[in-house]
Amino acid sequence: MTINLEVPAKFKLLVDQAHQVALGVFRPISRRYDLAEHEYPKELDMLAALVDGMNDSGEQGTGARGVRRSNDNDTDGVRNGGNLSTVLSVMEACWGDVALVLAMPRQGLGNAAIASVADDEQLARFDRVWASMAITEPGAGSDSAAIRTTAVRDGDDYILNGEKIFVTAGARSNAVVVWATLDPSKGRAAIKSFVVEKGTPGFTVERLEHKLGIRASDTATLRFADCRVPAANLLGSPEVDEGFAGVMQTFDNTRPLVAAMALGVAKAAIDETRDVLRGAGVAVDYDRPASRQHAAAAALLAMEADWEAAYLTTLEAAWMADNGQPNSLQASMAKAKAGRMATEVTLRCVELTGGYAESSLLEKWARDAKILDIFEGTQQIQQLIVARRLLGKSSAELK
Ligand SMILES: Cc1cc2nc3c(=O)[nH]c(=O)nc-3n(C[C@H](O)[C@H](O)[C@H](O)COP(=O)(O)OP(=O)(O)OC[C@H]3O[C@@H](n4cnc5c(N)ncnc54)[C@H](O)[C@@H]3O)c2cc1C
Repeated sequence: MTINLEVPAKFKLLVDQAHQVALGVFRPISRRYDLAEHEYPKELDMLAALVDGMNDSGEQGTGARGVRRSNDNDTDGVRNGGNLSTVLSVMEACWGDVALVLAMPRQGLGNAAIASVADDEQLARFDRVWASMAITEPGAGSDSAAIRTTAVRDGDDYILNGEKIFVTAGARSNAVVVWATLDPSKGRAAIKSFVVEKGTPGFTVERLEHKLGIRASDTATLRFADCRVPAANLLGSPEVDEGFAGVMQTFDNTRPLVAAMALGVAKAAIDETRDVLRGAGVAVDYDRPASRQHAAAAALLAMEADWEAAYLTTLEAAWMADNGQPNSLQASMAKAKAGRMATEVTLRCVELTGGYAESSLLEKWARDAKILDIFEGTQQIQQLIVARRLLGKSSAELK
């Protein structure tokens, strides 16, 4: 079957709106909140309310909620749904500012996890939360099976103990989806995710990081000390040996979103560079071979081709999610390709334009891009997943 990867006409309005937000809201405050690290961008409140309204009225999910897969897989391969529209709008918004998108209330990665794996009762109960996602620990980054935060059943509750680091929106969100193990000796099989709301006794925000990039987004260390969480807040099956595949599936939906963020910031850099080159008298001619153009124009064409490859891979991964097709391979390919592309392209744009100073957003975009090649699985981890899938090897066989 062939796949038509043109942007569906029905998403045009959404993409246009995201572009207006990027241009009119994000860009003007971009530098300010990069400099004022840890200050909450209050301008986001109004936007978040707008997205809530669209979610309440629209047939497709918008934002983090858009990643919920339909139960109806009988699509004949023609559904352009929430995953695709979310990828397109996130990309466009990140053309404005990726850090501000990560700081959007109620659009956390925890919201995407809830949308992906919560049952209908939980979905309704957590409808209005802003949820961050806490997997990483001081001793467990790429190897998420090594987490040591524990959850022990006690009556109708679980009691959580442990420390989580690098939690995006960990301080500002009002809930967090925490990965904890029911039995550390059982590895992946015993890992479950729990929604823990702020204000739950025993749950504290310890500190915030000062970072290279995405400074408008808070990154927190969280502690859970005898933190009692209702058993009804466990997402997925409570049985050991069941459900890890389920929590991992969240990544199949969220990795294309991170790829979309990378596409957005890279496109911003390419567009800006094209303008700077034009201003310097270097025009890019799309009808002549790159080899016969100015070296800077040839470099721009090469970056655009690299961007396009990442874009198509990302659309494919999201489209497959909308059509109920297993997309782990494509989601990891998209994340690896787009993360690497954005890191390289944004730095190359700084190089081509001399946009190294605060007077240019290019230096900020080069800093912001790096995290997109790290969180939700690093470049190396995505390549490992791709290799396992292509070679038919398990995680025990290829590490
Ligand atoms: C700004 C920021 C925001 C973040 N937000 C979140 C969040 O919201 N929630 C959350 O849970 N986490 C978050 N993280 C954590 C992030 O997901 C981890 O940093 C990431 O998974 C890598 O883990 P690590 O830093 O422990 O590196 P490590 O796992 O120690 O890896 C170090 C290096 O070794 C490489 N490596 C590791 N294993 C292998 C292997 N098997 N083969 C080849 N190479 C390997 C890695 O690719 C990396 O280059 C965030 C991190 C940052 C910096």
